[in-house]
Amino acid sequence: MKQGKVIIISAPSGCGKSTIIQALFKLGDIQMEFSVSATNRAPRAGETDGVSYHFLTDEAFRRAIANNEFVEYEEVYPGRYYGTLRSELDNRTAAGRNVILDIDVKGGVNVKKMLGENAVSIFIMPPSVEELRRRLVGRATDSPEAIEERVGKAEYEIGFSKEFDHVVVNDDLDKAITETHDIIANFIGK
Ligand code: 5GP
Repeated sequence: MKQGKVIIISAPSGCGKSTIIQALFKLGDIQMEFSVSATNRAPRAGETDGVSYHFLTDEAFRRAIANNEFVEYEEVYPGRYYGTLRSELDNRTAAGRNVILDIDVKGGVNVKKMLGENAVSIFIMPPSVEELRRRLVGRATDSPEAIEERVGKAEYEIGFSKEFDHVVVNDDLDKAITETHDIIANFIGK
């Protein structure tokens, strides 16, 4: 049985990564399944447990670490942990199914190193840091302090873009979706 492949999408927060992933599922021509991460952060309005994330308590997250349930996990923001569960990945790829990961930049670099040729890593780049700030303000899901925190982190994370297999600049959403789609289709087809 041919092993399934892993598609890693990383980007600083607010670069349109989730929108691009959703659009790819809507197009629906690439066989892939979304890896639902675990986190100890609280659900936002409209998020469903088990769909957006597996929402865990601090205690449950710690237990999952101790039980070696994660392929990787990161403290993406102070006190806020996110991790890729083995249960989301191993069985699916072993059964020949492809899995797409929406994970932070550090996690993306690490998973690519772990999986090598079986994974493709794609960095979604904002057109500029100023534009990114505008988008985060427009999204209105975070406080001004949280937005500044995310912008500062974005500047740092952009420095890691060279470690990714591909960089897609999201200045035009439709173009970014097409580019990402074609990179994945080409990789899966190989
Ligand atoms: P948010 O809180 O906005 O949903 O996500 C914050 C960040 O955590 C995003 O960059 C998202 O990609 C990242 N993230 C989500 N799941 C994982 C994961 O399993 N591992 C890592 N390392 N980062 C993740």
